Amino acid sequence: MKILQIKDSVVSIASEIQNAYIDFSKMTVSIVAIVTDVIKDGKPVIGYGFHSNGRYAQAGLLRERFLPRLIEAKPENLVDDQRDNLDPFKIWDILMTNEKPGGHGDRSVAVGVLDMAVWDAVAKIEEKPLYKLLAERFGKGKSKKKVFVYAAGGYYYPGKGTETLVQEMQGYLEKGYRVVKMKIGAASLSEDMQRIEAVLRELENHIDAGETPGSRLAVDANGRFDLSVALAYARELQPLGLFWYEEAGDPLDYHLQNELSSAYDQPFATGENLFSHQDVANLLRYGGLRPEKDYLQMDPALAYGLVEYSRMLDIIDQFNWSHSRCVPHGGHQFALHLAAGLGLGGNESYPGVFQPFGGFADETPIKDSLVGLTDHPGVGFEAKSDLINLFNKHFQ
Ligand code: MG
Repeated sequence: MKILQIKDSVVSIASEIQNAYIDFSKMTVSIVAIVTDVIKDGKPVIGYGFHSNGRYAQAGLLRERFLPRLIEAKPENLVDDQRDNLDPFKIWDILMTNEKPGGHGDRSVAVGVLDMAVWDAVAKIEEKPLYKLLAERFGKGKSKKKVFVYAAGGYYYPGKGTETLVQEMQGYLEKGYRVVKMKIGAASLSEDMQRIEAVLRELENHIDAGETPGSRLAVDANGRFDLSVALAYARELQPLGLFWYEEAGDPLDYHLQNELSSAYDQPFATGENLFSHQDVANLLRYGGLRPEKDYLQMDPALAYGLVEYSRMLDIIDQFNWSHSRCVPHGGHQFALHLAAGLGLGGNESYPGVFQPFGGFADETPIKDSLVGLTDHPGVGFEAKSDLINLFNKHFQ
């Protein structure tokens, strides 16, 4: 078997939203289609890939380095002989030929896009949903039928006040989410506390007996704070008992995270900007995170794909963390399959933004903050009509 053709394109997901670091007015996504010579139902199997929001499209890296390496490779060097299928690990090695270690900038995004398309094709060739294939290959065959998701949003909308934020959160709770997340760090501490308290007042209307509103709210600083500001927020957030306090400082500042960890005993979440298993090892070694309460958010679509994510899970095992502490960033179907097939604790969800890449199959509504998976082969992009329509528009 062989790859016949690889197509790529760039799609805009521009919007008016802002977090503490960036606005999304020029945000783009790379998409790819890997066409194979395997025929199913009279048509060639095509694997599709894209990357998560927050990093820009990687057309230059794809066209100058990664696509030529794949296209120029001998077909037999890309194939899993025992399974008569593509081999994502061999393909990863070919993509990373002549790449020095470290410095995981945007190339991890370019490789992540291709890796997603490869796994989509591999599972389609085996005629299985990806999560089942992953459970068989990496686990003991057991997968989850439903995955915990939380609603990520609560961005800063220039010119709109706290009322808009509260309405947004109310909308997520009415859609079936139990936990919501909002941005902090683009306003003053006192202004952010007013925003947080407004959302907590809304959550009061939705909590069950014995719950606190804080247990349903996560906040995300997008790496904005230095240590003194991170600590000042920690002091104010501590009594609220939040679901988590996300990315307080720079993602690679393990010292800051360590200092913060000793000053705040509620859960943290971080890791969406760590792109290699070595970075994850450093976070676990030096970041002071607590395996019983903190969360890891590495996103396979930004971080060299599922091949590298499997190495991150090996690191997590070595440090005696549970896979259930992993809740990937990105809100996409691909990470949902990893969560279901590899025993992760959940997945992000963007009900309102980054469409059509955010969200899950049309036929799987959110209920009690859980989302199911379909039995469509591969990642099941074909079961998300707005996304498959986009792929068809660009690649047919
Ligand atoms: Mg985040």
